[in-house]
Amino acid sequence: MKLPFSESYRIKMVEHIRRSTREEREEWIKDAHYNLFQLKSEQVFIDLLTDSGTGAMSDRQWSAMMLGDESYAGASSYYNMKSAIKDILGFDYFLPTHQGRAAENVLFSTILKEGDVVPGNSHFDTTKGHIEFRRCAAPDCTIDEAADTQLEIPFKGNMDPAKLEKILKETPHDKLPCVVLTVTNNTAGGQPVSMKNIKEVAALCKQYDVPLLMDSARFAENAYFIKQREEGYADKTIKEIVREMYQYADIMTMSSKKDAIVNMGGFVAFKSKDLWHRCQMFCIMNEGYITYGGMSGRDMNALAQGLDEGTEFDTLDSRIHQVAYLGAKLDEYGIPYQRPAGGHAIFLDAKKILTNVPKEEFIAQTLAVELYLEAGIRGVEIGSILADRDPVTRENRYPRLELLRLAIPRRTYTDNHMDVVAAAVKNVYDRRDSIKRGYVITAELPVMRHFTVELDKAK
Ligand SMILES: *Cc1c(COP(=O)(O)O)cnc(C)c1O
Repeated sequence: MKLPFSESYRIKMVEHIRRSTREEREEWIKDAHYNLFQLKSEQVFIDLLTDSGTGAMSDRQWSAMMLGDESYAGASSYYNMKSAIKDILGFDYFLPTHQGRAAENVLFSTILKEGDVVPGNSHFDTTKGHIEFRRCAAPDCTIDEAADTQLEIPFKGNMDPAKLEKILKETPHDKLPCVVLTVTNNTAGGQPVSMKNIKEVAALCKQYDVPLLMDSARFAENAYFIKQREEGYADKTIKEIVREMYQYADIMTMSSKKDAIVNMGGFVAFKSKDLWHRCQMFCIMNEGYITYGGMSGRDMNALAQGLDEGTEFDTLDSRIHQVAYLGAKLDEYGIPYQRPAGGHAIFLDAKKILTNVPKEEFIAQTLAVELYLEAGIRGVEIGSILADRDPVTRENRYPRLELLRLAIPRRTYTDNHMDVVAAAVKNVYDRRDSIKRGYVITAELPVMRHFTVELDKAK
């Protein structure tokens, strides 16, 4: 008999989580203004809000923490991080930052000016926020196929080279500070970008003399999908694939809370010594001295170890297997989600589930609240609340997709938890016809409103 799949780790420490009653949850979500970010974590049973900083560190990472060097300048932890970035990713220069958006801040403060254009494949929300806040444009060049949630193609995160070239051709060169390629494409459903696409995008960047920035939060998951799905890569190790991916990038920003499996940390890395040098000012001003940026020594050590573990096949195989497991359960129940299952999350297609709720009442948010009420499961809306208002007209933007993202923390939950999630989604799905009204906004901030938005039931 063929042995079934199992995780390549065992559990050394556990954390209690609390079930609640529906009555409790009804009160809590009302007090949170129907915004799941405003719940207390103890009011959540299974927390799939994000896979960012919520993973379980390994024994080797915890032991690396104990060896952290907290010197202000030139700490050994900084050099551990430097070697890991050089050996695994191939970059000579980097600046540590407290997380991914801080890396974006340091970089974009240096290279963006008002009126610039930064094309990308579905920019992540903080990336887009940083670009638009500086009065620059962030045109989306993702392939059209990404908007069809039921279409099964291997690399649904790809950039459309024709869309990109049109922008590169039509925009004056001095208004093009960089192109952003996000791997994996988070916003499009944790969907990977193929090596072929990386090469095509890099070739265009070269042709038009524009630096290629890889937004790299889930670069290792991307490499895993290249190994599994792209011809010619089956026999390569994840680390070999990662090295090849970054041959094509000039800059990378990293949220280490994702594929480096730490609770806090990030960095921006450069091939160009000159750009590294120019970015130091904003690092020192906003983050900290260049050998610690926004991080403590112990955290830099855990990050260096995490980059190594996170690019091992077994780690990725356990993780992505769990995402696929949840996807397969949902298939059993006939529930529509962004296909195929992505690297870090399942993205439920809320428009196909709650067909009675008008888009002005925030379909995916309505589904998020329903799933919380059903079983204390916290997902996150990737829809029109996240899309913010148009920076010029201030009208609500309604993206083509209304998704509820169920992001799975690394090495944290078991497949039994996934069974509970799937059953809860099924229960909501079974009563979908009775859900007719959504929510209206009662308070919001001008940029990235989703974190703090307040809502009330639509009447
Ligand atoms: C999480 C993420 C960021 C921002 O990183 P933080 O660590 O949350 O600040 C940027 N880009 C992508 C693709 C991400 O997933």
